[in-house]
Amino acid sequence: MKVFINPGHAPNGVPDPGAVSDVTGLRECDVALSVGKLVEHYLNAVGIETAVLQSDDLYEVCSEANNLEADLFISIHCNSVESPYAEGTETWYCAGSSDGKHLAECIQSQIVDHLGTVDRGVKMATPGKNGLYVLTNTDMPAVLVELAFISNEYDEKLLRNEQDEFARAIARGVTDYM
Ligand SMILES: [Zn+2]
Repeated sequence: MKVFINPGHAPNGVPDPGAVSDVTGLRECDVALSVGKLVEHYLNAVGIETAVLQSDDLYEVCSEANNLEADLFISIHCNSVESPYAEGTETWYCAGSSDGKHLAECIQSQIVDHLGTVDRGVKMATPGKNGLYVLTNTDMPAVLVELAFISNEYDEKLLRNEQDEFARAIARGVTDYM
């Protein structure tokens, strides 16, 4: 079993840090990388192979995952919107992938159960409509996890202080799936 982990956006935020908190300056790229590395640590600890790649070039990310013939693909992001009130966790999978949906459900429930975030549910990305590049262009069951909202005060604190708990939850989601 090999899991490909893709922390969202660009390393060190160049050129794209993803979402950034207006209040604390916390950057999505840094949270995603830190959580991604911890997920790797917890999966390796139970004998699951991993690869981690953060890159602004999504073609490179998908090619790498496909070339490695990874069994699962997990992209890690933080959500952000104009309204400071939106909060919670959502996990996306690609339309037509029942395994992707199952993996999304396993990860989603581990996060909401253990972090206490609002459950926004698992969501289906349909290519050509609301498709997500990394879900459409990977060959294996793939999910994109929006851990929580960096634009919400409560969620932002979790993203800053509970990275280890997010990572453990994702890793347990993977083992639940298996
Ligand atoms: Zn993102």
